[in-house]
Amino acid sequence: HASAVYNFAAGPGVMPQEVLLEAQRELLDCRRSGMSILEMPFTGEAFQDIADQARRDLRELVGLPPNYRVLFLPGGASTQFSLLPMNLLPPDGRADYVDSGHWSRKAIAEARRYVPVNVAASGARYGYRRLPCRRHWRLDPGAGYCHITSNETADGLAYHRLPDTRGVPLVADMTSDFLSRPLDIERFGVIYAGAQKNIGPAGLTLVIIRDDLLRAAWPACPTAFSYRVQVDSDNRFNTPPTQAIYLAGLVFRWLRSQGGLGAMAARNRRKSEALYAFIDASDFYACAQRVADRSRMNVCFHLAVPSLTAEFVAQARRQGLLNLQGHAAVGGLRASLYNAMPEAGVEALIAFMAAFAARHG
Ligand code: PMP
Repeated sequence: HASAVYNFAAGPGVMPQEVLLEAQRELLDCRRSGMSILEMPFTGEAFQDIADQARRDLRELVGLPPNYRVLFLPGGASTQFSLLPMNLLPPDGRADYVDSGHWSRKAIAEARRYVPVNVAASGARYGYRRLPCRRHWRLDPGAGYCHITSNETADGLAYHRLPDTRGVPLVADMTSDFLSRPLDIERFGVIYAGAQKNIGPAGLTLVIIRDDLLRAAWPACPTAFSYRVQVDSDNRFNTPPTQAIYLAGLVFRWLRSQGGLGAMAARNRRKSEALYAFIDASDFYACAQRVADRSRMNVCFHLAVPSLTAEFVAQARRQGLLNLQGHAAVGGLRASLYNAMPEAGVEALIAFMAAFAARHG
């Protein structure tokens, strides 16, 4: 990065520098239209081309079959916590949720305002240091869907193997790991992701939904948030978040230029494994998460001497290693290693951690 910092924030997080430069270059004159992206009517040809290209690039990246639809919605992932039950269930429906940490608890609390929720499994008994053991899952065969959080941003856990929900559509909050690895898309009914990690602009949320799950939303659901209405109107029921869609499109193109999701997964694996290996080999640092369930996006760790945590964060910041404090609800430290974090950033972090341990150990 021009400013020589590495940003380990959990989100909004680091963006590819090439994308920022291109957005800067095009800010006043987007694709030779003479208009800024901020000035383009969403119904006009110039913006339609941008949105269509973004959709095509995303479909290509993920390998989306034609029976999956893509929506670019405003509102952030938390909005979807409420919209899922109203869009996917009949008013007397019910849903399964797996409680794997902070963000699944948020999704559950919100869904409970609308429908009965069966918590099919919970990691609470493990202090959320591992995913709930498969043997203990209790799925409700009458559930309209089963919700998981594929990557727990605050707790540093991720699914590396998908659950078998026995025909009940799997719905996944992929906010913090979407586009970080290839997807077995046909295993999912719905995927949604707030954009501010691997996609870009905060406030935009991607929803990918299988055709057969589209139904009329509850009357209480705002029309602009009806998946059905938005799909039927080609995502143009109302003004979509145009600049955010443009920026996401630049990121999709960048991902394709980097070799796609397979190349991203390999790089993300190298980055996180280097950091976990360093932590595991050290007496000064520790990671409490079960090895098989560790996130490759959000590496959570702590110091053997927790009283040094604030000093660690402050010294790191002075060296240009930013935003390493853990989530407020969890504490400790966290390095988020999204797609745009270069391997050099992880090397710099490890070098700093070694020096800090030598000074304070
Ligand atoms: N789900 C997960 C997994 C997240 O990490 C976050 C945000 N960090 C959210 C949901 C909430 O996203 P938003 O702030 O866009 O509502």
